[in-house]
Amino acid sequence: MIRITRFTLLTLLIIASSVIVKAQANYRKIENYQVTYGWAHHFPQDWMILRQFENEGKSYYLLVNPQTLETKVDERSFYQVKPMSMAEARDFFKNTPYQKALRKAEKQSVNIQDAGIESGMPKETGISLTADLCPSHRPLDKRIFTDIFNEFKKVEQPVPVALSVTGIWMRQHPQDLDWLKQMQAKREIYITWINHSFNHHVSLKAPLKENFLLEPGTDISYEVLETEKAMLKNGLRPSVFFRFPGLVSDQQLVYRITDFGLIPIGTDAWLAKGQQPQAGSIVLIHGNGNEPTGVNDFIKLLQSKTQSIASKQWLLYDLRESVDEEFEGQ
Ligand SMILES: [Zn+2]
Repeated sequence: MIRITRFTLLTLLIIASSVIVKAQANYRKIENYQVTYGWAHHFPQDWMILRQFENEGKSYYLLVNPQTLETKVDERSFYQVKPMSMAEARDFFKNTPYQKALRKAEKQSVNIQDAGIESGMPKETGISLTADLCPSHRPLDKRIFTDIFNEFKKVEQPVPVALSVTGIWMRQHPQDLDWLKQMQAKREIYITWINHSFNHHVSLKAPLKENFLLEPGTDISYEVLETEKAMLKNGLRPSVFFRFPGLVSDQQLVYRITDFGLIPIGTDAWLAKGQQPQAGSIVLIHGNGNEPTGVNDFIKLLQSKTQSIASKQWLLYDLRESVDEEFEGQ
């Protein structure tokens, strides 16, 4: 009996470690990366297909669980599949939190700044933390991550944080990226990766309506898809969230992004601009070293909440759950 138990344990360990390896897979030779929609089923779960690609002779899907907004990359052969157009897929999944969040983002698409979802459930006594990694020659502001880990280690582990990452930042900062991945591998933090465009162009002179992704000549497909490919190459799992560079967009651009199945995420508390976080806020700071005042404000906020954190009265929320819960049961 003991032998069997040991054998079973060992098998479980091997399975568990292969699952971990799979979760962190790097897809270094991606080919035929395509936007594609449909329904995929692997008992008991339904998934919506967002992308397909090939890597070293195998075919993969990027999938989203429309109930939880969780994404995953998996081999195509594991699924029973029904291909659909974007319109058909959106109709098929129309009552799910994922589609409700997309529709809400589209409804809030008119503003030139801060379109999209900008807060979670107001009943929550805590916030969702988002930190942007725009291109920067400065090193990663590591205080954010070491401080949240230290404050929350007794009450919440791993601590959820959402990072908006650009293709250029990934290319510029391989060591910082490895450092973040190690924190995640040690389960000190859990990172939701938000697409923040590849190039993140910005002009100091151009008006907002011709700036950032609204700059004439911008190739939106490139900005979205090359960032996803760079994430996959680096072993990061793309989420269904997108953050506009400079938080700047117009209605047409919001629809271009939702057509990729991505939910624009704004903020109601950009700390460096003096906006105060409320319960359920989506807080914005910059993790790329360019905005230390916002990070200082965040650290002060954490310190002021030490007691509430200890008694679990003030927590950091997983962005996926904050957005998801807002649309559950509606
Ligand atoms: Zn940015």
